[in-house]
Amino acid sequence: MANNLQLARLHRDILGCTRCVVAGYLARAAPVLSGHADNRIMLIGQAPGAVEAERRLPFQGRSGKVLMEWLARAGFASEAEARRRIYITSVTKCFPGKVAAGGDRRPSRAEVELCRPHLDRQLALIRPPLLILVGGLAHERFLPGRPLADLVGRVFDQSGHEVGSGTRARPLLLPLPHPSGASRWLNDPGNRILLDRALRRLRPLAAAIA
Ligand code: SF4
Repeated sequence: MANNLQLARLHRDILGCTRCVVAGYLARAAPVLSGHADNRIMLIGQAPGAVEAERRLPFQGRSGKVLMEWLARAGFASEAEARRRIYITSVTKCFPGKVAAGGDRRPSRAEVELCRPHLDRQLALIRPPLLILVGGLAHERFLPGRPLADLVGRVFDQSGHEVGSGTRARPLLLPLPHPSGASRWLNDPGNRILLDRALRRLRPLAAAIA
């Protein structure tokens, strides 16, 4: 388990990062993350949005509200409990800006690579037995090349093999869709059933990995 000093040092390094500004991808760096040294669950999203960049806390806007509803369905008693027990970060840590159509820009491969050492260090320090992967960039990093419908509702080991409920493999990877309203994937009733299945898989895992 990480100690507070190690984690504070890591967070100081990440929060002071301006690599994407120096490389010309971002006008401003405002890294966002939250978590504690004793967290055993890590949630990895795509990148913070505008509200998150303003508040410097992950999953604050509409996506955050939806995500917290999902976590409540998976057994977390409150948002405060979820935020205390889950280390929350993302594949890239800064708001990438908007696209002309209005949605958030998907960070480029180059930005993902620039930010990769931060996520690698977070994983090495926290060593979470359970990773919740939220959205396409997180899926691509850990379970590449698979459609969302083949991921949500299933649990995988770190080699990408699907595992059953009795597995002792660690870390476990549990993919979720992105809770953003921009995603239409959940409009399909069949996909909502997959989300339901994912949250039912998460409930006992989150309880066991306290
Ligand atoms: S996205 Fe990552 S690499 Fe780029 S400036 Fe922010 S923290 Fe640094």
